[in-house]
Amino acid sequence: MTIHGFLERNARKFPTKEAFISGTARLTYSDMNAKANQLARLLIENGVRKNERMAIMSRNNEHFFYAYFALLKAGAIPVPLNTRLKSTEVHSILERMDCRGILYEQSFQSCVSQEAIVFPLLAVSLEHAVNQSLPFSSDNLNFSIDTNEICEIMLTSGTTGLPKGVMLTHAQVASVAMAIAVEFHLTHLDRILSQMPLSHSAPLNCFFMGGLYCGASHVLGDFTPQNFLQRIHQEKTTFTFASPIAYLLAAKEPSLSNYDLSSMRVFAYGGGAMPLASYHFVTKAFHNKNFYQVYGLTEAGPNGSLLRPEEHEQKPGSIGKTAVVNMEIKVINEDGTETAPGEYGEIILAGDSVMSGYFNNEIATEEIFRDGWIYTGDIAYRDEDGYLFIVDRKKDMIIPGGVNVYPREIEETLTKHPDVLQACVVGVQDQEWGETIKAVIVRKEDSVLSETDLKNFVSGHLAAYKCPRVYSFVAELPYNANGKIVKQLVKEM
Ligand code: ATP
Repeated sequence: MTIHGFLERNARKFPTKEAFISGTARLTYSDMNAKANQLARLLIENGVRKNERMAIMSRNNEHFFYAYFALLKAGAIPVPLNTRLKSTEVHSILERMDCRGILYEQSFQSCVSQEAIVFPLLAVSLEHAVNQSLPFSSDNLNFSIDTNEICEIMLTSGTTGLPKGVMLTHAQVASVAMAIAVEFHLTHLDRILSQMPLSHSAPLNCFFMGGLYCGASHVLGDFTPQNFLQRIHQEKTTFTFASPIAYLLAAKEPSLSNYDLSSMRVFAYGGGAMPLASYHFVTKAFHNKNFYQVYGLTEAGPNGSLLRPEEHEQKPGSIGKTAVVNMEIKVINEDGTETAPGEYGEIILAGDSVMSGYFNNEIATEEIFRDGWIYTGDIAYRDEDGYLFIVDRKKDMIIPGGVNVYPREIEETLTKHPDVLQACVVGVQDQEWGETIKAVIVRKEDSVLSETDLKNFVSGHLAAYKCPRVYSFVAELPYNANGKIVKQLVKEM
């Protein structure tokens, strides 16, 4: 029941099956296992010890998994880093996560060597390490690792502040994998496309690990709209997870009609809201309605809830009714009781995949946990049928003149306008009101939509106190490395 134990089992069960397919390699589970065993021995020989943290900086390819599994086998703790991070951000994370070193792909060497100068690190180039014939046995190591030991540290997206290091045990990650396998009926026949950064908990723990648990094949790569469509078409993949913006970009790709997407039985999305207008645009463009919305957060493994394709028709915009199999979900008032239908409250989650805590941050750990439940900071309500609807993050709430306003409702309204491609609503300082509502808009191509047009449109749909006072038109919105809009930067636009 350790995560590297799943790899070892697959190497025995499916030794010749192509399991890691990237732009440069097609490897079996046993190839991966053998290389990871050798790399683990190299790391141990270089002084890596049990429970030491080692960062990984690799794109979505076989190198990421050599590093990840080698570290687990050596008893060390992988800290996957997003490859789009800047050198100063990498530095800050390595320091805060007290990393012993970093395993990196050659293309990130300049970033890494700067880090190594700043403080002594063991820096191992992955290509260099795995391409040479290592003088180590490729047999499994017989290191005893308990399932309740820390398996990995996953960084939160840093949407509301500095990314925090979420500690998850082998048992917690295994529980995510099993829940995903059950909820999505995964089997060893599935072919999972992984193009979202593996440094984020949803792509790694849910969709890679779910497939690993079942012995599925993994098609690895970095997202571009064309690459995404091409890989589905060429590799006949069955299952993928992507951010809402990634689907929107793929649906707008001019060459879309050249690709056959009919092999796909699951298009999962989450990490943030997908406006309904985008959902309709994407499903129509893909000629495929197998869309599943997943809700969760890194601290929950990230398991939370799920909205299935048939429910999209009945309950558009909902994140589902119940938690996934290994979790429980509630919406509560400030006094801790469950809210009545229609009433806003905070989502709390409990279950098998909830984290052990934040690394080196007891204060934040104490703040998020109460009686075994994690307080998500997400405001939501249930409708009369019990379906959950996210209103917004507590931290994104705007208070113009003392009234609470949630940006997401305004964003949904703005994206209903036929000329609006994307809308982001934030609070900005205002001398008169304290805070006022600002809308930042990406228009559809060739549109001449004006501020007056939008003001007229919105006033027909929303109460006056919710209507944005300030508008700004931009070519694109600012996203962080996980494809989430950075509201702090939007405020400045
Ligand atoms: P940080 O904690 O560093 O500020 P973050 O909260 O974005 O970053 P993640 O764990 O990646 O870190 O994201 C979890 C959050 O993403 C949830 O709390 C929720 O606000 C949002 N989210 C996830 N899934 C959905 C969804 N399907 N719909 C709406 N929001 C979602």
